[in-house]
Amino acid sequence: MPSGNEGALTLTIKMRVIPEPDSHQELLDLMKRYRDALNYSIRVIIDSKALSLGKAHKLLYNTLKERFDLPSKIAQDCYREALAIAKSWLRSPNRGRVPTARNPRLWLTHGKSYRVYGDRIELLGGLRLRIIGWDGRYDGYPNGDVRLVYRSGKFILYISKRVPRPAKYAPREVLAVDINEKYVVVGNSRFEYRFETAVERALWYKQLAERLQKKYSLPRYNAWLRRSGVRRRVAYFHRKARNIVEDWAKKTSHRIVVLAMQNQYAVAREDLTGLIESLRKLPKDHRVALMMLSYRKLEFWLDWQAEKHGVPAVVVEPKGTSTTCPRCNTKMRGNGYRVLKCPACSFEADRDTIAVLNIERKTLSKMWGSLITPNAP
Ligand SMILES: [Zn+2]
Repeated sequence: MPSGNEGALTLTIKMRVIPEPDSHQELLDLMKRYRDALNYSIRVIIDSKALSLGKAHKLLYNTLKERFDLPSKIAQDCYREALAIAKSWLRSPNRGRVPTARNPRLWLTHGKSYRVYGDRIELLGGLRLRIIGWDGRYDGYPNGDVRLVYRSGKFILYISKRVPRPAKYAPREVLAVDINEKYVVVGNSRFEYRFETAVERALWYKQLAERLQKKYSLPRYNAWLRRSGVRRRVAYFHRKARNIVEDWAKKTSHRIVVLAMQNQYAVAREDLTGLIESLRKLPKDHRVALMMLSYRKLEFWLDWQAEKHGVPAVVVEPKGTSTTCPRCNTKMRGNGYRVLKCPACSFEADRDTIAVLNIERKTLSKMWGSLITPNAP
């Protein structure tokens, strides 16, 4: 997860790794023990409210070493990670079930439990992995904590890096971003692009999950069938839908921010909080849930990508953005499907174009004189 403060950004770099042939099984066994130890520790910490490192150490250190056969440093990393997971779960206001790690994994503290040299990473105890496709963009910055996950037969390594926050340029123009169920509309008074959303694609997996769930909830399917792979497949389809949206949000926001950076634009969007709240009031269905997820993810990744690339980002008040005439400020009237016309100046356009123009206009007036230097006519 990306995060940041005033001076620095924490990035996570993902890469594939392959254990040296003779250590493959040993590593996988260690990662399975770590996962089991982690799940055990999370429960112990929550049950006994042991919310400090000292308490967690006392309760868990020996058990993790003896019962789960973890090396001392890795046992420490394990209760440290369990503590972080337990705390964030306890903090969350609408928490569901206690979090559980499914995949074999390892979490390694910076500087103690691993070291990187060349294209190899060596774990404490001498297990070695080869890094495939090293991402060298942040080589100049120190490595932070590392996560190693085993998923679908592959070992994936996540290295965290602290990098300085890039300085922001003074924008020459505005790139406005508007989102609806079907499209993300990006542009200003001179051009406009539309990117499709992932709602439709993700919905397909939600419907698969639902159909499967319905089919096997009939009484004639006995308990053993319900216990078999069906539940796992239902969960897989739900996960797949979420991943499609997340992936779409990351890619789309990256394209938008790169476009802005190349042209020295500020990225502007409206504050979607109110829109998301009003969706929350609708009857709960998969489409609405996916739209809310898409809006939240797009906001998050747009802001994050803008920070990472030094692109100025502006958030404007959403009031009237899709109904006010961008030429003369009059309230526009419906004139067919998603099309509005201004009764005063006859300007006519579809809702999304109107929103883009208004977001541009609001941004210019918000930033005029401070960041934006007006264009030559
Ligand atoms: Zn008008």
